[in-house]
Amino acid sequence: MDQPTSEPMIDLRRYADREHLLLAAYAMHSRETAGRNHAETAHSYRGPFARDRDRILHSSAFRRLSGKMQVFTGEMGIYHRTRLTHTFEVASVARTMARVLRLNEDLTEALALMHDIGHPPFGHCGEDVLSHCMSAAGGFSHNGFALVIVEQLEQRYASFPGLNLSRETLAGQDVRAHKAEAAVGRSPMLEVQLVDVADSIAYDAHDVDDALQMGLLSIEELAELAIIRRALERTRGRHGVLPKSQLRQLLVHELIDLQVGDLLEQAIEAVRPFEGYCTDSVSESGLRLAHSETISRERSELESFLFNAVYRHERLIPVRKAASERLDTMFNILVRDPSRMPLRFRKRAEFNPIESVVGEYIAGMTDAFCDTQYRYAVDSLTGPLADW
Ligand code: MG
Repeated sequence: MDQPTSEPMIDLRRYADREHLLLAAYAMHSRETAGRNHAETAHSYRGPFARDRDRILHSSAFRRLSGKMQVFTGEMGIYHRTRLTHTFEVASVARTMARVLRLNEDLTEALALMHDIGHPPFGHCGEDVLSHCMSAAGGFSHNGFALVIVEQLEQRYASFPGLNLSRETLAGQDVRAHKAEAAVGRSPMLEVQLVDVADSIAYDAHDVDDALQMGLLSIEELAELAIIRRALERTRGRHGVLPKSQLRQLLVHELIDLQVGDLLEQAIEAVRPFEGYCTDSVSESGLRLAHSETISRERSELESFLFNAVYRHERLIPVRKAASERLDTMFNILVRDPSRMPLRFRKRAEFNPIESVVGEYIAGMTDAFCDTQYRYAVDSLTGPLADW
């Protein structure tokens, strides 16, 4: 019998070994992390990015995503996406792509789960109202607010505020908060880029699905667009002629699949020269993952169509207007009388501009919670509103 070798064996129970075996050199490996702002001992079986993912998943901001609508706010049905379902769909698309490109799936998933936690109630109109109300304090951005949540507002640990995420996870969200700067020079980590692509693939496809289901659009209207015709052709090629209800779901499936397939085809070629190089060399080169020219053009066409036909649809306008007025009224009540905010926000107001603190308090609310707090703020002249 052979003597046991003295070579250290790869042990797949160890995350560093799994990553060494499975990830490309240019992936962000856990062993290369720059650590956390508050030092913590390593976990025995979860890598730093898996811990980040779990911390985000268990945060209260993450759970509140189930009560925040993606696009269709108010009483517009229950089928359509919330930010929580959208987030899981983004995570699923991003993880699939990360696996094919041999990037770090834990980091990709952590970034995907975090990417929308800074969204205020009532979809895009919530963001517009807060940006306007907070203009004196620098405006409002949901991407920046996500960092405030994970670094300051979440209260999970006794020894530090926030979730104490790894520096790479924070940096990934910071890229989202500074998109213009990130578009030139050094490129963001590939894991960060994947989440961005997955986000836009997911929301375009899901907005098509929700708008069709709600009757805001018809398949015939959508078929004016090249990318929809491409997806319909694939659907017919695989399944023949189908009833409309089935066609909608398969169309959305093909729409996602064809964009993911296109992105991967391009990305596999783009990363090939970096085989064996580290993540920093890829960033240094400024490599940016992108769709093929044809799909990029067809995607832009879809996005401008959705902007006019869905986001500006007449059925959405009164719902948005009512939500905007409620947010604006509540913002002004609280700025005039900060004593009506929960204690921890009153404390934050001692060191931060009142507009910022009121904006943070409102931004953390779900749609329904915002409605009940608005009623209370308007009906009762005194007494603090509830904390979320
Ligand atoms: Mg998103």
